[in-house]
Formats: sequence, structure tokens, C-alpha cells
Amino acid sequence: MKNLHDIDVFLFDMDGTLNMGEQPIDGAMETLRILNQKGKQVFFVTNNSSKARADYVQKINRLGYHAVEEQIITSGMATASYLNKHYPNQKIYVLGTQTLKNEFLSYHINITEEEDADVMVLAFDTELTYEKLWKATNVVGKGKPYVATHPDFVCPSDRGNMPDAGSYIALVEKTTGRLPDVVIGKPYAPIAEFTADFCKASLDKMAFVGDRLYTDIRFGVENGMTGILVMTGETTKEMLAESSVRPDYVLDSVNALRDI
Ligand SMILES: [Mg+2]
Repeated sequence: MKNLHDIDVFLFDMDGTLNMGEQPIDGAMETLRILNQKGKQVFFVTNNSSKARADYVQKINRLGYHAVEEQIITSGMATASYLNKHYPNQKIYVLGTQTLKNEFLSYHINITEEEDADVMVLAFDTELTYEKLWKATNVVGKGKPYVATHPDFVCPSDRGNMPDAGSYIALVEKTTGRLPDVVIGKPYAPIAEFTADFCKASLDKMAFVGDRLYTDIRFGVENGMTGILVMTGETTKEMLAESSVRPDYVLDSVNALRDI
């Protein structure tokens, strides 16, 4: 466990940690500015692969902190980097939004809309059609490499939980009998490695701050970072007591980071 004073890079989850939907957690945006004034780097890490960096910049600015695109890390970016490293120049079928495809194109990924693809990438596709889904299961059914951007089953929203990538993974498994060969997003290692590269820091100088034990905190502690749980979101005292995932620090809210 690191003294928080020695941490150079603070990575933040958003919903439940810095904000609840469009409402910032009281004082959280000021806390980010105070961390910056102390010379700490601040990044925002999201598993949501349906949106672009610019969408998050706008959201964080609406919440009251001046963010730039270089502070945003998405599972889509980490997936594009993984594809370039492991499947260079291969034809990639993307079960994902046009926004994600545009992100992939910026990483020079060779996207195909046909089912003779070399690799299938499953993402949070809020523009899903039956035809897209069927092509995707056909690629996986042929035994081609199968990559998922993140494992979350649902994405919380004001209209109720949205079926997320993890739920699509279950559907593809029922159809093809296969699970992804790799899952990129939190809590898994590929996005941790990408994040360390992106932030130009070593994992032991980084902390992940979040409200979910089994994604945020597991992501931090299993990948060599410091895991900081905040009690402003999903986790209750009872859940913390029963969990096998042990955070390095438990804070009432992110505002406790002002004193490090
Ligand atoms: Mg959260």
C-alpha cells in the first residue's frame, strides 16, 4: 500500500465517484483542481465504448472541471491499441457504434462490415441491429479471434439499466458456445497496460479511485495500482464487509483526497 502523497497519477471512475448523472458530487470538481495544484495528474477512465472522448470532455466541463481530451481514457481506445499490437492489418468486424468505429479509424484499424472478417470486436452497441448481431455471431462461430471491449452487464441510466457489452457477451455465448478470447476494459490487465503507457507513468505511481469493488477497486489492486474506494456510489458498508476485494483506502468521498 502506497502513501497517497507518493502517487503521481490519479485515475477516476465517473458515475458514483465524481457525479451522479448530470450532478457533480458536492466539492468533487474543486478536489480535482486541488490535486492539479499539488502537481498530481488527473485522468478519467471509462469502460463505456459507445461514446467518444469529446463526449466525456463536454460532460466533465458541464460538471464544472475543465478537462481536455488527453485526460480521457476509454475501453475503445485501449481496444484499438490492443488490435494494432496483436492483430495488425487484420480485417476487424465491429459490433459497436459509429462513434467507436470512428475512434478505431483514428487508430488506422481496418474495419470491415462483412462477415469474412479476421477478428470480431464486441462493444457497447447502442445502434444494434439484428443483421449486425448475426454477422458478429457468424464471425465468432467460425472460430475467429473474439475481443470484447469491457465486461459490464448494464449501463445505469435515468431510464433504467441499459443492456451493456457483458449482456451481449452472454447472448453470443448462447449462440456460439464461445466467450471472448480477451476482455480489454476494467478490471482486466489490457486497459491497465494501455493506461500506464498513455499516462507515461508506472503502475505503482498510479491510483484508481472508484465506487465499485468488483470493477474499479479490483482493477486497481490486481494491476499493481493503489485502489481507493469512495462510499458515494454503489458500495454499502455491508458490501465492503463481505467483499473479497480489499481496497487500499476507503474514503467517505473524493474530497478526502484534498488533504494528501
Ligand atoms: Mg462508478
